Amino acid sequence: MTTLYTGIGELVTNDPSQGDGTALGIVRDGAVVVEGDRIAWVGQREHAPDADSRVDLGYASVIPGFVDSHAHLVFAGERSAEFAARMSGQAYAAGGIATTVAATRAADDSTLDHGLQRLADELLRGGVTTFETKSGYGLTVADEARALRLAGAFTEETTFLGAHVVPQEYRDDRDGYVDLVVGPMMQACAPLARWVDVFCDRGAFDVDETRTILQAGMAAGLVPRLHAGQLEQGAGIQLAVELGAASVDHCTYAADADVAALAAAADTTVATLLPGAEFSTRATWPDARRFLDAGATVALATDCNPGSSFTSSMSFCIAVAVRDMYFTPAQALWSATAGGAKALRRDDVGVLAVGRRADFVVLDAPSYVHLAYRPGVPLVRDVVTGGLPADRPHDVRIRRETP
Ligand SMILES: [Zn+2]
Repeated sequence: MTTLYTGIGELVTNDPSQGDGTALGIVRDGAVVVEGDRIAWVGQREHAPDADSRVDLGYASVIPGFVDSHAHLVFAGERSAEFAARMSGQAYAAGGIATTVAATRAADDSTLDHGLQRLADELLRGGVTTFETKSGYGLTVADEARALRLAGAFTEETTFLGAHVVPQEYRDDRDGYVDLVVGPMMQACAPLARWVDVFCDRGAFDVDETRTILQAGMAAGLVPRLHAGQLEQGAGIQLAVELGAASVDHCTYAADADVAALAAAADTTVATLLPGAEFSTRATWPDARRFLDAGATVALATDCNPGSSFTSSMSFCIAVAVRDMYFTPAQALWSATAGGAKALRRDDVGVLAVGRRADFVVLDAPSYVHLAYRPGVPLVRDVVTGGLPADRPHDVRIRRETP
């Protein structure tokens, strides 16, 4: 069963062998043929092969589905009062996470599952067809494992973040908490996760603790990624490169040597910028041109979490990244799609090419540039994920083969 999509005034493929030959591989008057959950053909409409059915999109623009490589979706409660206080002049400190930890521990499974479902649905409606999510609001063996088990129903990109902050009951015994994370917590969580992550920053974990935890995760079969450089410059970015992490996230504060290290590791370690966090904490914007001009691979992600960035909107992140972080519109779109795929080491998403997953977004606009040009406007008209139109909340759960 094949479907031919036409009526695409501007088709962004992220395949430089297509169309205008830029990184976005833009095809004018494009067409896509979908077979099952994969793309069977991409190119100009006049050359398109026949298909079993046809969909005319009415001269819309089409982009690859967004790949959100950084989110924290398993939690209970919300922190709008903290946001309001911060916007009234208080500074952000990592300790606010404790509020969400307490609410998450107290919540039952169905409350957490319902919250995940809502956010996963919100992401999908906003055009995100692949997302990562982390644990990190349980901070006990049972609560971290529960978060990963619940998240696994929605995405294969699950990340063990037991080292989000040191929980209050270990405040006077940091080493004891690190031992717990690398010991029983890792043992319980590694089978439920693909990635291991640490918040390596002021008020969270130092670089030695981070190295210990990431190496324990790697020994347990997980691939490292890292939060670093959000609140201050440190050795976290260099550590991420040294350990071959898939991504180092935030990078708001990065030394020239950090940027150079990321550029040298462009095939291995992605620099993921999270404009929602700067926006929501009223922090200094990182200048993306430093990373892009040096040759680093850059991703954009939402960092969706109830404290420092409660947005699930990649369109919003693109608009802010262009306006305040000096991405060009083309760089921002690439980073939110193909860049996110690289940050998750996925070669089946982020690019519209033959054999890739049929994950794409139909924009109610003549060009992807409108994502930044018309900020805050709901331009995502339709989302196709795995070859199927995604228009119902229950679509957000991943389909698993039943044994
Ligand atoms: Zn984060």
